[in-house]
Amino acid sequence: MGFLADSLNRISPSATIAVSTKARQLKAQGRDIISLSAGEPDFDTPDNIKQAAVKALAAGKTKYTDVDGIPELKQAIVDKFKRENGLTYKTSQVSVGTGGKQVLYNALLATLNPGDEVVMPAPCWVSYADIVLLGGGVPVFAQTTMEHGYKLQPEALDKAITPKTKWLVFNSPSNPTGAAYSHDDLKKLTDVLLRKKNEHVWILTDDMYEHLLYDGLKFATIAEVEPKLYDRTLTMNGLSKAYCMTGLRLGYAAGPETLIKAMCKLQSQSTSNPSSIVQWMGVEALTGPQDFIAKNNKIFVERRDLVVSMLNQANGLKCPKPEGAFYVYPSCAGAIGKKSAQGVSIKTDEDFVTALLEEEGVAVVHGAAFEGSPAFRVSYAASTESLKEACTRIQRFCGNLR
Ligand code: PLP
Repeated sequence: MGFLADSLNRISPSATIAVSTKARQLKAQGRDIISLSAGEPDFDTPDNIKQAAVKALAAGKTKYTDVDGIPELKQAIVDKFKRENGLTYKTSQVSVGTGGKQVLYNALLATLNPGDEVVMPAPCWVSYADIVLLGGGVPVFAQTTMEHGYKLQPEALDKAITPKTKWLVFNSPSNPTGAAYSHDDLKKLTDVLLRKKNEHVWILTDDMYEHLLYDGLKFATIAEVEPKLYDRTLTMNGLSKAYCMTGLRLGYAAGPETLIKAMCKLQSQSTSNPSSIVQWMGVEALTGPQDFIAKNNKIFVERRDLVVSMLNQANGLKCPKPEGAFYVYPSCAGAIGKKSAQGVSIKTDEDFVTALLEEEGVAVVHGAAFEGSPAFRVSYAASTESLKEACTRIQRFCGNLR
């Protein structure tokens, strides 16, 4: 077996996709299932963005483009970073890929050598560790706690860094916890990264949920908070979440030119350019009206408040109220060691979510998939009505535990 084939044996299929697929299969069999497992907004893509696709098609924009993005989209991204984050990049420092996931994948696979360590605050998005393993690297989880709102503490970051650390992969607001870092929270972490002993660490900041921030919290990103880290930071973002474009697959990053070139080289031998039509949709998304984001966020806040309140009324659950994304991450420590109504022993969070799906038809993702147990992730990107019903079922499930 080759190097990549060996690496493939070390990774798992995405757990979130597995749960969503199981929920869809049960639904197809006629079961009454509510799935709160998906990482995507239930809102439609704004019409002006859809129309940009129609226009691009009519204009014959159907040919190959530059591998890592058309100049118009790169310029729109440069302008976005300036306008929203106070960050100055040239278009040659920008890379566009088929979804944020490809951009992350390019960055990690283009840079990792066997044995390189990648630090990530846990719980964290399911794919980081698997992409690192695929690249021959070693994921290092820096644990966060519910008491600290699932935010990485400076000492935990410092402790996780070794001479072998290549990257810190950082994500705020966070999937799966919704934890969002303020400017001051980030400053404490950037101070650690500036220490002489940590100077070799590059930072990959995943800002995918930037616009999904609530309660007046202002977004901040690492290169903006600490300009001294600009030269070793890759700032990644995408259109999937706030612009409701998950299936359209468009993500981007900006950072040091040599890194961007290496990422482009890798992409040139895999997928080549992202869809030409979708790139034009991206131009419209970033340069067109942005007011729908605030409207969607108002709905997300109402749903978050409803879900947090109902889950906190469930026996054995404890659910913090996060300030971003569209996830909550309740602890189910109080349910471990008990038996469900149908007599299933709940030893782990995976047992909890499996029995919940079987017995009440609610699909959520177990914390172990995110390296944060015992807990589970609830996506509240679903209608208020289905959220109410799902939480009522979770309350009943927990109430029946003995
Ligand atoms: N980063 C985080 C934290 C995510 O939650 C996701 C999607 O779930 C991605 C990156 C990848 O996004 P995309 O759908 O653009 O590939």
